[in-house]
Amino acid sequence: MISVQDAQAHILDRVTTVAPPELLPLTASLHRVLADDVRSEMDVPPTTNSAVDGYAVAAADIPAAGTRTLEVAGELAAGAIWSGTLQHGQALRIMTGAPMPAGADTVFLQETVERSGNQVVVGPLPAGVNVRQRGEDVKAGAVVLSAGTVLRPQEIGVAASLGLAQLVVRQKPRVAILSTGDEVAEPGTDRKPGQIFDSNRFSLRGLVEAAGAQAVDDGIVPDRMEELHSRLLRAAEHADVVLTSGGVSVGDYDLVKSVLQQAGGIHFWQVAMQPGRPLAAGSIGRAHFFGLPGNPVASMLTFHLFVRPALWKLAGRRDLHVQPFHATAAEPLTKKTGRREFKRGILSWAKDRWEVRTTGPQGSGILTSMTAANCFIVIEEERGDVKVGETVWVEPFQPL
Ligand code: AMP
Ligand code: MG
Repeated sequence: MISVQDAQAHILDRVTTVAPPELLPLTASLHRVLADDVRSEMDVPPTTNSAVDGYAVAAADIPAAGTRTLEVAGELAAGAIWSGTLQHGQALRIMTGAPMPAGADTVFLQETVERSGNQVVVGPLPAGVNVRQRGEDVKAGAVVLSAGTVLRPQEIGVAASLGLAQLVVRQKPRVAILSTGDEVAEPGTDRKPGQIFDSNRFSLRGLVEAAGAQAVDDGIVPDRMEELHSRLLRAAEHADVVLTSGGVSVGDYDLVKSVLQQAGGIHFWQVAMQPGRPLAAGSIGRAHFFGLPGNPVASMLTFHLFVRPALWKLAGRRDLHVQPFHATAAEPLTKKTGRREFKRGILSWAKDRWEVRTTGPQGSGILTSMTAANCFIVIEEERGDVKVGETVWVEPFQPL
C-alpha cells in the first residue's frame, strides 16, 4: 500500500521532460501554457492620458475655494495629440484616452464644470485627479507574464496591449487512450450478452482535452497478451503518454501489468484510497504510461489525482494542483481510517458558508454519481466517520 501523496510525488518526479515550444497567433493561444517570460518593451499606457471626458488644466489654475473662469484653448479627441503647451488661465477640452497636453496635470470631469462659449467655470479639485500615468499598468522592461502561466482571456489581452500578435507556448502533450477488456463494447455497435459499453475512453478523453492535452483514440483492446502488447507499443510511438483503463486489478485477465513488465518499466501500486485502489505507472518506450482502474468513477478520480498533474507538468505549467477548500458536511459521511476516501459531492452556498452533501450511493461503478456531483469530498487517511457540521476538504471538478 502506498499513500495518495506518495504516489503523486513519485509520478511527478518521473515526469522530467517538458513539451517543446511552438509559436502561435494570439488568437489561438487561449488555455495554452506560456513557454517563455514575456517582457514589455514599452510603457502601458504609452502616454499619460485623460481618464475621463472633461477639461485638462494645470494644478496652479485650480481655485482653492470658490470658482475660476478659464479660456478653452481647443479640443483634443482620443487618438490625436495636442502639439501646443497649455498657458496660464487656459483649459483644454479633452476626451477619455487622449494624451495630456504639455502644461496640464489634472482633468475636470465635464459634468462638474459650466461651459459657456469659449469659457469654462471650474471649482476646487485635488491636483492630479482623473489622469492615467504613463506606465501605470506596465513599465518598459518588466516581466508581465511569466513562463508556465496558463493563458486566460486576461493574459491574452495583456499580451495584445503590449503590441504582441504571437506567443511562444508549449505544444499540447499527445495522450493515447485505450480501453481494455473483453467485456467492453463500442458505443453505437451491438452489445453482446455479458458486455457493457465503453464509457472510460470517452470520459477520459474529455478529461485529457480539458487538461489542455491532445487525445488520440486507440480504441478497445481485448484481454489477449500479444494484442495488448503490440497495441501499447504502437500507441507509445505516436504519443507522449499512453493511458489505459481496466486490467490492473489482481485477477486472471489482468494483463496490463505483465505486458508492461516486458515492454517498459512499471510500478504497480495498491494506493490507500477509495475508490480506485489499483494503479500502474511507468513507461513504454519514450512514452509515459498510466494504467487506471476499470471502474468508471475510479478511472476518472485517478486521472484527477495522478494523470492531470503529470500532463500539466509535461505541458510546462507552474501550478500543478487544484486548490482544495473547506466546506461543512451537511450529512454524516461514513469513512474507514487508514485510507483517503473521495466521495462525489454537491457543493452549495448556504447563507454564509459552503456546505457539501454526497450524491447518494457511492459505488465506484456508479458513473451517474459523477454527473450529479460538482466536487470530490476528500476525507484524509487518519479520519473516521464524519458527523454533520464537521469541516471537510472539497476539490471542485472545475475551479468555481
Ligand atoms: P478491471 O479493472 O478490468 O477489472 O475492470 C473493473 C470494472 O470496470 C469491471 O466491472 C469492468 O467491466 C469495468 N470497466 C472496465 N473497463 C471499462 C470501460 N472502458 N468502461 C466502462 N467500464 C469498464
Ligand atoms: Mg478488465
